[in-house]
Amino acid sequence: MRSRADTTPRAGRVFSDAHNGMLIVSPRGVILEANGAFCRATGYHPAEVRGRTPTCLKLTAHGPQFFAHLRHSLRKSGVWQGELVKRCKDGTLVTAFLTVGTVRNRIGQISHYLCVFSDIEPLKARQRRLEQLAYFDSLTGLPNRMLLMDRLRQMCAAARRHGRQVAVCYLDIDGFKAINDSLGHHAGDSALVEVASRLSLEVRSGDTVARLGGDEFVMLFAEPGAVADIQAVLDRILQSLSQVPLAGGRKGISASVGVTVFPMDDGSPDTLLRHADKAMYQAKRAGRAGYCFFYPLMEGCKPPDLRREHLSSH
Ligand code: GH3
Ligand code: MG
Repeated sequence: MRSRADTTPRAGRVFSDAHNGMLIVSPRGVILEANGAFCRATGYHPAEVRGRTPTCLKLTAHGPQFFAHLRHSLRKSGVWQGELVKRCKDGTLVTAFLTVGTVRNRIGQISHYLCVFSDIEPLKARQRRLEQLAYFDSLTGLPNRMLLMDRLRQMCAAARRHGRQVAVCYLDIDGFKAINDSLGHHAGDSALVEVASRLSLEVRSGDTVARLGGDEFVMLFAEPGAVADIQAVLDRILQSLSQVPLAGGRKGISASVGVTVFPMDDGSPDTLLRHADKAMYQAKRAGRAGYCFFYPLMEGCKPPDLRREHLSSH
């Protein structure tokens, strides 16, 4: 294929047969040629793109700022490289790595730009899979401990800046071993998935529900309100878990929850989690199927400077 650009037949074949999608674009931004790989990847026929601009074809999902940056880089160094979200003819968005190079004629004027697209979707998909494995629990899809601690750090920092609170609620299912033993590990797994889904339904969008492992879950409430509000959410959660259907027509899961509230409990994220865990064990000792708020006496500290209602347990 001969392009309007000044190419030899061999260079023309390299362009048309290249594995990477390529466009030849005029100095005014009009597409002069599109190769086969570009057309196969985007669903366009060469005639549909020739003579048009990437903007009028809506070839990307990027706004004017992106193109301004691209033009600036081309003026400065003659080349631009970076990730770009490409829009195919059917509207599908695909991430590609784009290199735009400036081609000049013998007297130094820009004759055209060569855009080369590399398909990085498999790489991106792999990256997403690795992130999923690193930050999410594979059974329930909830954030794992690593992501939980990251969110807790961020939430505490934001709470400090804005004079707000964060409630850390540590939940452990009561008698979960017995569910596994009587109904089987598979039924136990299904129950954990159902618990995860019910917990997620009961919290607000800025909150976090995570699974630490086993039958342990942690909820972070971003703006918990008064103690009575936290209690109301926990009551709803315990009520919802009591309706979890189990294998063999059985129904109902009970859980014990420990709560601590930042910044009344002004510890590091690790300390907050440890305090909530401690309060959860207190709830277990107090008869299970309920919740207990952490207070510094559990640590052997001086009696609390917390508000009175933080000392209440259920
Ligand atoms: P407690 O009332 O004191 O909380 O005791 P429990 O029977 O609930 O047992 P505990 O919380 O100490 O331990 C949780 C059990 O959950 C231990 C293990 O057998 C089981 N378990 C851990 N991970 C999984 C899992 O991924 N799937 C299933 N089905 N069971 C798990
Ligand atoms: Mg348990």
